[in-house]
Amino acid sequence: MPVETNNKSSIKPPKVRQFGGSFFILLTLLLLLNLIIPSFFGVRSLQVPYSTFLAQVEAGKVDRAIVGGDRIEYTIKTQTPDGTTEQVFTTTPVAIDLDLPKILREHHVEFAAPLPNPNAWIGTLLSWVAPPLIFFGIWGLLMNRQGGPAALTVGKSRARIYSQGSTGVKFSDVAGVDEAKAELEEIVDFLKNADKYTTLGAKIPKGVLLVGPPGTGKTLLAKAIAGEAAVPFFSISGSEFIELFVGVGAARVRDLFEQAKEQAPCIVFIDELDALGKSRGGAGPIMGGNDEREQTLNQLLSEMDGFDANTGVIIIAATNRPEILDPALRRPGRFDRQVVVDRPDKIGREAILKVHARNVKLANDVDLSTIAIRTPGFAGADLANLVNEAALLAARRNSQAVTMADFNEAIERLVAGLEKRSRVLNETEKKTVAYHEVGHAIIGALMPGAGKVEKISVVPRGVGALGYTIQMPEEDRFLMLEDEIRGRIAILLGGRSAEEIVFGKVSTGAADDIQKATDLAERAITLYGMSDRLGPVAFEKSQQQFLEGYSNPRRAISPKVAEEIDREVKQTLDNAHHIALSILQHNRDLLEQTAEELLQREILEGADLRDRLIQAKVPGEMAEWLRTGKISEDKPLLQTLLV
Ligand code: ADP
Ligand code: MG
Ligand code: ZN
Repeated sequence: MPVETNNKSSIKPPKVRQFGGSFFILLTLLLLLNLIIPSFFGVRSLQVPYSTFLAQVEAGKVDRAIVGGDRIEYTIKTQTPDGTTEQVFTTTPVAIDLDLPKILREHHVEFAAPLPNPNAWIGTLLSWVAPPLIFFGIWGLLMNRQGGPAALTVGKSRARIYSQGSTGVKFSDVAGVDEAKAELEEIVDFLKNADKYTTLGAKIPKGVLLVGPPGTGKTLLAKAIAGEAAVPFFSISGSEFIELFVGVGAARVRDLFEQAKEQAPCIVFIDELDALGKSRGGAGPIMGGNDEREQTLNQLLSEMDGFDANTGVIIIAATNRPEILDPALRRPGRFDRQVVVDRPDKIGREAILKVHARNVKLANDVDLSTIAIRTPGFAGADLANLVNEAALLAARRNSQAVTMADFNEAIERLVAGLEKRSRVLNETEKKTVAYHEVGHAIIGALMPGAGKVEKISVVPRGVGALGYTIQMPEEDRFLMLEDEIRGRIAILLGGRSAEEIVFGKVSTGAADDIQKATDLAERAITLYGMSDRLGPVAFEKSQQQFLEGYSNPRRAISPKVAEEIDREVKQTLDNAHHIALSILQHNRDLLEQTAEELLQREILEGADLRDRLIQAKVPGEMAEWLRTGKISEDKPLLQTLLV
């Protein structure tokens, strides 16, 4: 694994630290001076009560006095055998005593007002200068603690820099994204042999945007480019820009590009560009945070325009939300190259598994291609995680090598969550769950394109599953056909249908199935145009290409059409439900036997399960329903069953 070192020595020397040091010495000196000055310039004297002073004046002992508003200093001369000694006393007047001059004159005391203090200006100066100095001192201290030398140089970019080729990642570490790799190899070639291109007058793209779902290897690819080309690699994350004070992000961008130009040819990698490049003027600012982001973005745009394409600085950015990026970022001359880094297909997954299994001891029975088949939709990061999970499981068994069983268990863990044997179900619940799962399995075995039913279990797993059925696809699918969608809906409703047939009532266990079935039916009608009545009209706005889930707002439609959509969705679900009931009715014996067996053994899988499910019989009306989605009116099975 590449170690990302924060190589500080390559960042400019931290001048701030030095300044900070002498600054603190100065501050301490000033403070000490402030303490010393009064005692230094003041005359040491004895403090006495005011009444004593008055008494001494009246007794004629006082020789002379300096009378200030809040302090009186006076001298007493005493005759001793070896001459006269003077003793100085001070006292504080009780109030402004207007009679005092008269009394002093009466007793022949020499008196005067105090001279203005020649050093008073220092005190005044200190009282003005010290507080802000102290404030800045503390501030500086805090900043230094927080972010090292970078903190006071607020504008300095904190891009981590990797020196020549030290990302340690090569193209061979990235697998399954061959198209993206081929495009990026051109970039590497430019960084290595710039002359070849510039003599021809060709302009190399300044910016490359890597677009793809999370975990597909975008960051890894960027590092691999730097590693292959053996050039410096500056990497910064978009979210790191959005920090501290307004204007700082922009200063960071400026500094980052300055550093990059000095070190050209090099690569500047901006990860999570969406944090920075969200479309400007979109949603209203929340807590004023937008201003800062916009300034930073503007700075980035102008920096990208500001340097010549052939300086050898190539900016690579990555995002998994290209649709929210500001259009200005994608203009020619900026991130005009987009490279899609998609989830890998089956062959890609096998290649990625190979990369990650390089350092893992595999048992002979491990077949990476089978694992690749069983992991559709897994991204590179998921596969890396899978290999590690399997290795951990093998280690827990104290095994010498990682077996296929470890991989299967690891896949199940990643897909369905951890086993929860501690969750104890009562007899009725267990029975309900068993019939429910067998219902899914029997229908799953008959429907087209759904893959093989591999396992049914009544061992609770993950957050909410009390039992589960695992159906593994036999190949990667990129399209779903009409009949397969219908089949999928019927499979989802199969669990609930089994409960209806066997117990005559339903449980709450089917909520998730019903949710998924309804979503799928709605999508078929509003997105895929699969309803005869409504035709190929899109009623949903589809935009979020890379985000899973289904949260699109409906297009503006008339209430009549809305009603029609609802009716069609319901009809689709009703028909699928009808077929599910019909199939299970048709295979009642198989349902009972398999559920009994499952209750005893908790898990059914492999050949054992296959031999049972192969007996499932197809009811006559299923073929027509698969083809048309319709049920002939003369067989109202649904109604009779629900009474
Ligand atoms: P992204 O930046 O696209 O979210 P990363 O590049 O951070 O994903 O990938 C995370 C980890 O997943 C990588 O460090 C690597 O171990 C693994 N990985 C992801 N994609 C691939 C791939 N195509 N080939 C090999 N490993 C991959
Ligand atoms: Mg990343
Ligand atoms: Zn279910």
